[in-house]
Amino acid sequence: MNIKARKFGGFRAKNQLTDRQDLFIGRMRRGKAISVKERQRKLYTNNKGDGGGYRYRGGRMWSGVYDVYELELTSVKDNTELRKLLIDTTGYFEKDSDFLFLLRGKGGYVSDEVLGTFLPIVVYWVYSGLYLMLGNMDNYRLHSKKDEDEKNLVSKKEVVKGVLLQQIVQAAVATVLFAVTGDDGESGADRHASIFVLGRQLFVAMLMLDTWQYFMHRYMHQNKFLYKHIHAQHHRLIVPYAFGALYNHPLEGLILDTIGGALAFLVSGMSPRTSIFFFSFTTIKTVDDHCGLWLPGNLFHIFFKNNSAYHDIHHQLYGTKYNYSQPFFVTWDRILGTYMPYELERRPEGGFEAKPVKDCKEH
Ligand SMILES: [Zn+2]
Ligand SMILES: [Zn+2]
Repeated sequence: MNIKARKFGGFRAKNQLTDRQDLFIGRMRRGKAISVKERQRKLYTNNKGDGGGYRYRGGRMWSGVYDVYELELTSVKDNTELRKLLIDTTGYFEKDSDFLFLLRGKGGYVSDEVLGTFLPIVVYWVYSGLYLMLGNMDNYRLHSKKDEDEKNLVSKKEVVKGVLLQQIVQAAVATVLFAVTGDDGESGADRHASIFVLGRQLFVAMLMLDTWQYFMHRYMHQNKFLYKHIHAQHHRLIVPYAFGALYNHPLEGLILDTIGGALAFLVSGMSPRTSIFFFSFTTIKTVDDHCGLWLPGNLFHIFFKNNSAYHDIHHQLYGTKYNYSQPFFVTWDRILGTYMPYELERRPEGGFEAKPVKDCKEH
């Protein structure tokens, strides 16, 4: 097979390796061996070493996270297959005409699992920060500012502390879980998953998370002990606002979000890379459902029946037995008769009010 010498991600394929590259590969090959996963492409021989932190660039060794694959060229069907393979490759060395050493980055210095754990936290504060920057928005609020100050049973400072505590606990648990069950960075394996497959995975994950959260959330209302000691914390916000979205008891965060998220991830079969998107999107959706505003053109209000007004009903004292569904669809509420239809009415002083259509106040 004829492979053109070309520069690729800082590496140059050559027929002859320089001493330094030889040394480099030698170091790579002496790296700790890791088990080969079944789903690894057949293209590779079963020789996989862990890069363990060497990366050659500009004549210097840099620390980085790479997998090294030894590719037997006879196992590659044609040039198209080889090209496809090289797109996924950070760099390669041609050792001789039969073998190619591929370096596959695991997405830079940070693994997808770590990103999937920490990016949603950043996304949470950035997205709710944007809502904060919008200011009072009196013409679009679902409750007056006065109601927010008077009805809520917890200060904003306490809310920030509570959210941070919950995020720290969840990130710690997720990190430990990944360390125990850990994948070794095969996350690029389905980088070429079709849009159809990605769409199906995301949809399955959404259904799974919704199902888990509906029943857990509803149970936390029905079981007086759990409500009093755990879920009541979230309901201290009668008038929700964006950065209060994850103001929960840490145990609630673990049960609803961490376990629910893990189930959605496992059942959908998505890659850790896809999960970065899924968990970030879920975070944005949850923040939006608590934004306390009804803004024109908000895509979440257009595409989801489960939105800020729908969830606002649940946060009212009369609505706590309705609209349990979260964060995406209203399906379970509809099937199990806990769906509370509402109408948006203009408030005389500006803004809107989500009013239940059925009279649920006496229940
Ligand atoms: Zn609730
Ligand atoms: Zn809520």
